Amino acid sequence: VKASPKVYVLRWGHRARDFRLTTHVALVSRALGASGLYLADVADQNLKKTVEKVVEEWGGRFELQMAVPWMRVIQEWKSRGVIVHLTMYGENMGNSDVVERIKKTGRDVLLIVGSRKVPSAFYTLSDFNVAVGNQPHSEVAAIALFLDRFFEGRELSTEFEDAKRKIIPSAKGKRVQKAS
Ligand code: SAM
Repeated sequence: VKASPKVYVLRWGHRARDFRLTTHVALVSRALGASGLYLADVADQNLKKTVEKVVEEWGGRFELQMAVPWMRVIQEWKSRGVIVHLTMYGENMGNSDVVERIKKTGRDVLLIVGSRKVPSAFYTLSDFNVAVGNQPHSEVAAIALFLDRFFEGRELSTEFEDAKRKIIPSAKGKRVQKAS
């Protein structure tokens, strides 16, 4: 049986003052089914600590690579899978079949998001430029909506392996099961 395609996120343009936003990029990527995050060009030890702590407690596998030159990641992914750049200027996934075309390739996906104006190479080197609506908003929202379409909602009920904590969903209050 062929394994289902994996998604890795390339976060470009992180600055120390973006710490919370990049942390949300990482946590949303992990929670909604991505397998890892590349942080382009810079390292951030606080981000690493936060991500490792979440994985340790809540389980699953999530790769974090930091200070990787973005061009190298893109070059590597040219043969490894398809490159999808999330941009408000792209083909709108709301009124086109762009996500279907990406899924049809059956290949792993490198999902690129920016922070401010991105290098123009992102538009030309990517196999797909995808807009989550053609209005400006946020990389976190764009990742979330793309992953939900890509994984067709299944990602919301994924069980994470080796979790120390697991939430027992309840209509009221907080129920958490702890691994013994
Ligand atoms: N002003 C920037 C520009 O010209 O590209 C946009 C910055 S936006 C705050 C940061 C990132 O969020 C973008 O690089 C893109 O990856 C993502 N983003 C924002 N709106 C989007 C949309 N409508 N569709 C897809 N991605 C979007």
